[in-house]
Parts: sequence; structure tokens; C-alpha cells
Amino acid sequence: MSPLPTYDVAVVGLGAMGSAALYQLARRGARAIGLDRFAPPHERGSSHGETRITRQAIGEGEAYVPLALRAHAIWRELEAATGETLLVEAGCLIISREDDQVERRARTGFIQRTIRAAERYGISHEVLNAAELAYRHPQFILRGDESAYFEPGAGYVLPERCIGAQIGEAERLGAQVRLGTVVERIVPEHGAVRIETSAGTLLAGEVIVSAGAWAGALLGGRFARLLEPQRQMLHWFAIEPDAVPLWERSPAYIWPHGESLDDFFYGFPALHGSASLKTANEQYDALVDPNDFDRVVSAAESRAMFEANLKGRLRGIRPDVVRSATCLYTVTPDSAFLIDRHPEAPRILVVSPCSGHGFKHSAAIGEAAAEIAITGRSTVDLSAFAVSRFDTAGGTPSTGANG
Ligand SMILES: Cc1cc2nc3c(=O)[nH]c(=O)nc-3n(C[C@H](O)[C@H](O)[C@H](O)COP(=O)(O)OP(=O)(O)OC[C@H]3O[C@@H](n4cnc5c(N)ncnc54)[C@H](O)[C@@H]3O)c2cc1C
Repeated sequence: MSPLPTYDVAVVGLGAMGSAALYQLARRGARAIGLDRFAPPHERGSSHGETRITRQAIGEGEAYVPLALRAHAIWRELEAATGETLLVEAGCLIISREDDQVERRARTGFIQRTIRAAERYGISHEVLNAAELAYRHPQFILRGDESAYFEPGAGYVLPERCIGAQIGEAERLGAQVRLGTVVERIVPEHGAVRIETSAGTLLAGEVIVSAGAWAGALLGGRFARLLEPQRQMLHWFAIEPDAVPLWERSPAYIWPHGESLDDFFYGFPALHGSASLKTANEQYDALVDPNDFDRVVSAAESRAMFEANLKGRLRGIRPDVVRSATCLYTVTPDSAFLIDRHPEAPRILVVSPCSGHGFKHSAAIGEAAAEIAITGRSTVDLSAFAVSRFDTAGGTPSTGANG
């Protein structure tokens, strides 16, 4: 029997996180292989739909800021290496009522927390009152009691291009890539990990599991409960011809409004020539099986999005939907990332940073994952994302990989 193919590190899932990890492993000269059930960039996971907001002062928690800062630097390096545009500094506005204290998952007091993070890390920003906001950004229809945080170095990244560039660079630097290959089981053995796939078995010294919405089912045990796939929707609405220039010049924006958790949406500038505006809100009661859920956004769902959020707030936007898509969040109980060694199988590194705000950090998370797999530790402190934060007194026992 011929020996199994053997690698220093295997990366399971080549979306936002896995493509970044594979690129960073290859840069460091590791014998690395990346496996994906589809052919990233694809439209079946969490990383499609043209754009993702990026910011550097992270109101979800200051532990994220070093990741965001590093990710921007890596994207600029990748742009220089590939000649691709990956990051557009269109700026980002967070619009909110000054006294907004609505309980929002990881985003209660979002503006104030963002301002504190910007001040602490010296991130360039402005705080605008409603009059300044209305004067500078007439595309927004305001009530008059809003204020806004504006970060000029924020904006958006182009997710499909980021993933494609990182996989391309990883291969150029010697990493192996196996697409259309489903990882079925990950089994720790003496001194290695056996990876059973739809196209045979291989061995690796370390495994990075960056399987996005599929990670919970693949890892099993407590991870199946901690990593919940949730269906999300993206909508592109038509812009009135006169308003197109206004929206092409717009920054990205995040706008919690009203008194309920659902009173929240965000959006992007109109991409040049598209005459359409991409916006989304968030669902936290739409648990799905990533292999079997309704991938079509209904006309009623887009209409509800327009009525609840856009109507009366965005100037020159028509209710006509020109495109829509579903996408998956992988949500943890506290909406924060989970990046840690598997408690029972330390050669398995679980990299599950979604909960709706992961892309902006992905280049840096891939680097940190590669550092851990190769040297045992990362430059950026990831302790805030440890699985042990979910341990309860008396303990919910972990059942381990495939357990
Ligand atoms: C609608 C929406 C809007 C978002 N907006 C933002 C935003 O504005 N800003 C931001 O920062 N973040 C945002 N996010 C979050 C961000 O996009 C995610 O954090 C990120 O894309 C997650 O990447 P991932 O690598 O974990 O998952 P994915 O990119 O989905 O990658 C997982 C990969 O694993 C593969 N895979 C799964 N199981 C297996 C298996 N068993 N064998 C082999 N391969 C496997 C899949 O095919 C897939 O390619 C948004 C997410 C969504 C859904």
C-alpha cells in the first residue's frame, strides 16, 4: 500500500478565512494543502455578493482592531503583488441616534464604542452632528436627532477578488489546492491528523478548519451548538437616474434606527455603472442547514426590506429589486468570533470568524492561523476568541472532533 500523502498543514475550506490561511502558509514555505467542497470564490457560503464593509475602529470590541489594521496592510500588499483592486477606501459612516441604547447583538452603544476604539488606536475619524451629516451626505433623509461616526480610511473590500487573489498567490508559492473535494471526517491520530475526503485520505501535522457555515456539523460535539448557520439576504435596489452620482460618491454606511434589534440596515455606494444600491439587514432567527435551505430571496422579502429600512431614509432609491442573493452567517452565542485550538484535539485549529462581521479581518486571521499552525502562536492576541469563554460552571463537556 502506498503511503498517504502528507502535508505540514491542511486547510479545510478555502473561503475568506481558508484562502487567507493557505496564502500565508505558502508565504512561510509550509507544505500546505487547501481543500474545498466547491470552487471558491463561489456563491454557496458566506463570502459572495461583490462587497463587504471594512472599518478599523471596531465597535464590536477592541480585540478586533489589531486584526482590522493588519488586514488592510495585507490587502495592500496583495494588491501590489497581483495588480488587483481589493480594498476601496470610500469611507464608512455609522449613523445613529446619539442616545441609542437599544440592545443590539454585539452592537449596543455602537457609535460610542466605535469612537472609543478609534481614539484608543489613533484611527482617523470625525463625529458629525445631524446638520453636518445632512449637508455632507444629502443621500440620507434624517430626523434631526442623529449623529454619525465617519472613518475616511474605511470602505469596502471585494470578497470574490480577495479570495481569488489569495488562492492564486498560494498556488504560485507552491501550495496544493483540491477543489470539489468534500472533507468528510477529521480524525486526530498519533502525531498527525487523518483527513478523509470524497477523493481519498491524507495526513497533515496540523489542520485549520475554516469551513464557514459547515464547520459546526463537520467538527460535531459542542461546535455544532456553538456555530449556527443563519440565512441572510442581500438586495440590490434601482437608483433614480438623478441620484446615481450621489450614490456613486457615497461612503458605505451602517444605520441602526428605531427601538428594536431589527431596526438596522447597512449598505454600500453604488458601484460605478451599476445604477443600483446594495443593502442588507440581519436575521438571527433563521437557523438553516447549509446544504438544504431556500436560496431564493422572495419579492415579499425584498419589499419588506425596502419598507422597513430604505423608504423615507435613502434618497432616490426605487423599490424595484434588480438583484438579490442569500448568504450565510455562522453565529456564535455572543456573536463574537471563535478562533482556537480544538480543546480535545490540539492539532485542529478552529477558525470560525463570521457572525456577520468577519470578512474585514479575514486576511489577518489567515495570517494568525498560519502562524499558530507553524510556530504555535500568533502575533495578534486572539485570546478574546477562545472557546473556553463558553464553558459553564459544571461544564458543557466538549465531545471533540466528529464526536
Ligand atoms: C450577507 C452577509 C453580509 C456580510 N457583510 C459583511 C461585511 O459587510 N463586513 C464584514 O467584515 N463581514 C461581513 N460578513 C461576514 C463575512 O462575509 C464572513 O465572516 C466571511 O465571509 C466568512 O468566511 P469563512 O471563510 O468563514 O466562510 P466561507 O467563505 O463560506 O468559506 C467556507 C468554505 O468552506 C468550504 N467547506 C465547507 N465545508 C467543507 C467540507 N466539509 N469540505 C471542504 N470544504 C468545505 C465551503 O465550500 C466554503 O468555500 C457578511 C456575511 C454575510 C453572509
